[in-house]
Amino acid sequence: MIYDLIRYQFDEKSSLRRENVLLVSLGCSYGKCTFCDYQDDKSSSVIACDTVNKKVLGSVRGAEAGSSVLDVTCSASYTELPFTTMNYIRETCVEKGIKTVILEGHYIYREANKYYRDFFNEKGIAIMFRCGVETFDENIREGLLRKGLPGVTPEDIAGYYDWINLMYGMDCQTITRLKEDIDIGLKYFKRINLSIYTTVKNGPGRNESAIKDFYDSSFYKELKENPAIDIFDEWDENNGHNVGHDIY
Ligand code: SF4
Repeated sequence: MIYDLIRYQFDEKSSLRRENVLLVSLGCSYGKCTFCDYQDDKSSSVIACDTVNKKVLGSVRGAEAGSSVLDVTCSASYTELPFTTMNYIRETCVEKGIKTVILEGHYIYREANKYYRDFFNEKGIAIMFRCGVETFDENIREGLLRKGLPGVTPEDIAGYYDWINLMYGMDCQTITRLKEDIDIGLKYFKRINLSIYTTVKNGPGRNESAIKDFYDSSFYKELKENPAIDIFDEWDENNGHNVGHDIY
């Protein structure tokens, strides 16, 4: 079903100022990640997806708001948006003076990236691809999270993606492991989105003490100052840590 969610945000705090849109997809065909509760926001109707998506894209202001980057997410991989929606995204970029579009998808769709790069480049729009990795600890990523990247190395991912999502705060995660993930992320990718884990039904537990250790650490302050990293914490309702909220 299509949920009533905040679908447009202008992130002016990030070093990469950008407009964010959360669109409706036809559904995630992978669908196994244990930490994911947003994949239900979908419709099997192309018309229903397009109707919402067109309206959301109508909020994009682009050059008029001094913005030239559009970050597109959905409740699945970008390849699972109707192609008509992809056309609306490109039209919006052209009309609003957007110079760079960001698309996010699962690694299994990596071979599609080149076609979408050509599709946007045709109109002079640059593209960045983002991939959900969550952690480079394969035991946690595949054993606990069932992310679907068995045996995939950072080098493999960097062959297709510019930017990764990492997640912190689940059971079994430690700040030491997070430091390793961040080091690998910064070595191979241009940018990192770090999300603080929010408990989901039937998902891993939330490790409150590991999260507190993180927020109390000088490492957190260091990451906040790093222009290549954006931190999201939707649990932090009062935004006491002054980090970006997840838009889901
Ligand atoms: S691939 Fe993305 S949308 Fe699909 S289950 Fe995993 S996290 Fe959720």
